[in-house]
Amino acid sequence: MRKSFVRIVSALAVFAVLFMLPIPTASVSAAKTEEELRDELAKLKEEEQEIQAALDGLGDTIADQQAEVKQLYKKVSNLESQIDAYKAQITAVDSTIAEQNARIETLNTEITAKEQEMQEILEKLKKRVKAITQTTQYSSFQLLVNTTDYADYLLKSQVLASVSEHDQVLRLQAEEDKRTIQEKKVLVEQEKADSEAKKAELESLKGELDTQFDSLDKLYTTAKNKENKLLKEQNGYEKKLQDLQKSEDELDREIAALLAGTPPASTYGGKMYWPAPTVKRVSSGYGDRSLGYHRAIDISNGRSLGEPIVAAASGTVIKVQSMHYSYGNFCMIDHGLDANGVRIVTLYAHMRYTPSVTVGQYVTGGVTQIGQIGNTGNSYGAHLHFEVREDNVRVDPIGKGYVVVPT
Ligand SMILES: [Zn+2]
Repeated sequence: MRKSFVRIVSALAVFAVLFMLPIPTASVSAAKTEEELRDELAKLKEEEQEIQAALDGLGDTIADQQAEVKQLYKKVSNLESQIDAYKAQITAVDSTIAEQNARIETLNTEITAKEQEMQEILEKLKKRVKAITQTTQYSSFQLLVNTTDYADYLLKSQVLASVSEHDQVLRLQAEEDKRTIQEKKVLVEQEKADSEAKKAELESLKGELDTQFDSLDKLYTTAKNKENKLLKEQNGYEKKLQDLQKSEDELDREIAALLAGTPPASTYGGKMYWPAPTVKRVSSGYGDRSLGYHRAIDISNGRSLGEPIVAAASGTVIKVQSMHYSYGNFCMIDHGLDANGVRIVTLYAHMRYTPSVTVGQYVTGGVTQIGQIGNTGNSYGAHLHFEVREDNVRVDPIGKGYVVVPT
């Protein structure tokens, strides 16, 4: 079984670990024992499992985090628009208060004018009283003029009615006008007080929302930062994946160069043997898209570890490599040109140990054992990953009739 996710994870893991361990060279030296390789592999698997565990949750975590951010953003936006609505109402009340202040100002001016008018009338009256006292010695007039209580003054001034009747009428009218203006002013001041109470209420409501907004905005910022951090982490993995893709492309180029530099050793006989005689089951077919595009067949029956792998057809070993990050221990056999002049090459990957053949060795189809089924490289569970390449293009080994699953 090879899920694309597993592929990525294990490839990443191996890739990561390759930086920490001495990078195995193309043809492993004889000095490196199988024991050592198995130790390395064990370390790789351990790292793989750790990274897989981390990556496993990452996708879900990001989705959860994004949902949380979205929800918080909704709440914050909702609060913002409520706060904006209060701001608009407060602005409206402010302009009402400004109008009311202007009206009060106007009324104050009117009151001052009336008071001035009254004062002028009083001055005139004083002059006349003075004139009278000077001619009549009527000393009580002076007292009357000095009085501050106008009602009292009026009572007393009845005496003066004959001389000041016209002025009194004017003054009474002014007094009346002033009272009317003052009543208006009281009303406006009442309205203003109402406006100010309303404003205070709005500001208190807005204040509550402001507090809610502050704490929610903090949550939102924290959540958003967390999301960004996770995405950055994911980007890091994606970057590594791109590097791995590059490495894979490099391998393909390397193989192409190898084939170009090595003339076909023989002629493909047109017949292939099943490469794992004791394991008669395909666990993942060619082009299995639901599991990620797969240009090979995987052979496994769940008890495949250590089972022999034989050359599918006669030919010459052209590549042997240990611990490739993806293929693990693998080798390639060149079978020469077919009847159409197409060069046929087979590849056997994830072997348990370094293949037991060497570059340049002639192998016999169905006879020469080249290694054992293993679980190295980008592999979960022991299986043989078997490729048939036509002029270095991977084709379907079963679909194209190269091999038949034995019964
Ligand atoms: Zn495979």
